[in-house]
Amino acid sequence: MKRRRLRDLAPELLRGRRALVRVDYNVPLTERGEVADPTRVEATLPTLTYLLEMECRPVLVSHLGRPKGEVVPKYSLAPVAPVLEEALGARVRFLPSTVGVEALQASRDLEAGHVLLLENTRFLPGETKNDEDLSRQFAQLGDLFVNDAFGSTHRAHASVVGVTEFLRPAVAGLLVESELTALEALREARERPFVVAFGGAKIGDKIGLLEAFLDHADRVVVGGAMANTFLLASGARMGASLVETEAVPLAAGFLERARGRILLPSDLVAARADAEDASEAKIVAAGAVPEGEAALDIGPETRRAFAEVLAASRTLFWNGPMGLFERPGFDAGTVEVARAVAVATSRGAFTVVGGGDSASAIRQSGLTGEVSHVSTGGGASLEYLAQGSLPGIEALDLP
Ligand code: ADP
Ligand code: MG
Repeated sequence: MKRRRLRDLAPELLRGRRALVRVDYNVPLTERGEVADPTRVEATLPTLTYLLEMECRPVLVSHLGRPKGEVVPKYSLAPVAPVLEEALGARVRFLPSTVGVEALQASRDLEAGHVLLLENTRFLPGETKNDEDLSRQFAQLGDLFVNDAFGSTHRAHASVVGVTEFLRPAVAGLLVESELTALEALREARERPFVVAFGGAKIGDKIGLLEAFLDHADRVVVGGAMANTFLLASGARMGASLVETEAVPLAAGFLERARGRILLPSDLVAARADAEDASEAKIVAAGAVPEGEAALDIGPETRRAFAEVLAASRTLFWNGPMGLFERPGFDAGTVEVARAVAVATSRGAFTVVGGGDSASAIRQSGLTGEVSHVSTGGGASLEYLAQGSLPGIEALDLP
């Protein structure tokens, strides 16, 4: 999917002008509201540094969380500004509005060498509806548009897709460019076995895309809350585990088609869903989660089985943690899978890990440098691998 890139634009198209840059600063926050993992912020530094070097003035927009079209203070982008300022080494001004007169004025007043960060795009109801009026308002904030929000590029939203109708040039930033290069390599990788591992919690969003991998993958490994829905579909008792009941028929159809190639957990770590740590957790068979308890990680036998399959792969894609890894004691499955990905890489496999939380997990395990590519997008990388295109990329200029 070849599109025009930021690096293709002549310097005179950049110098002194305002670049509206869609970034994906949908970062995890701590309970105290601080940025828990700056990976997605750091991932935009190449584009921002490039723009500043070209004397272009970056105006940044992003979403954070799912505030559903209302102002929800805990989803403000304000805590991101100091993190970006520190990482970039340039002044970052945060403005608590997204579009409108103040934002427009701030974009015009932006000094050379400084960056403007606007408030959460999803505070506006038009964002997820790809509203035309909102798209026009976004378009006024720049003289060109740069999509560097790889993790949001599968969303046909106003700040990703709609805005490109009213603002040209519209080009791919350096992060988007490098993500597409790595994922393209994965799509073309022919070395077998090709193994995909899925976990995480966004089942409804992702389950439809898993189908596409059945035709290509030799093994499909499923853990995390994603596995709960599959186990439920195969008749297991899942207690109070996180499951997506509406997705059960899809999961059942998938199991039918993937017979023999899909590897589900055989044991699980169960505890009360609100357990603060794993001190009272127990190992249970995958079919028998006790009433009132939830499966919060894969069990030791499953960890070994998953690690063996992953370590033996030649091409590998992993999206979604194997459990509630943010909570103490429930990260063993995720850490084990991260290690197995690193082992596969060291044996010469081409490995890609995708997803905001998966990237955090890899980072938490200290293994970021030991996989071929860590993608900042979960749903986006899945969709690109499954379909070979993304709405936010299709919307950019042709070369
Ligand atoms: P990614 O961001 O890598 O694409 P997701 O957003 O789909 O991944 O899922 C990550 C979330 O899934 C994490 O917050 C993790 O705690 C949660 N999760 C994984 N397994 C479980 C489980 N068994 N029960 C509850 N939550 C889970
Ligand atoms: Mg996530």
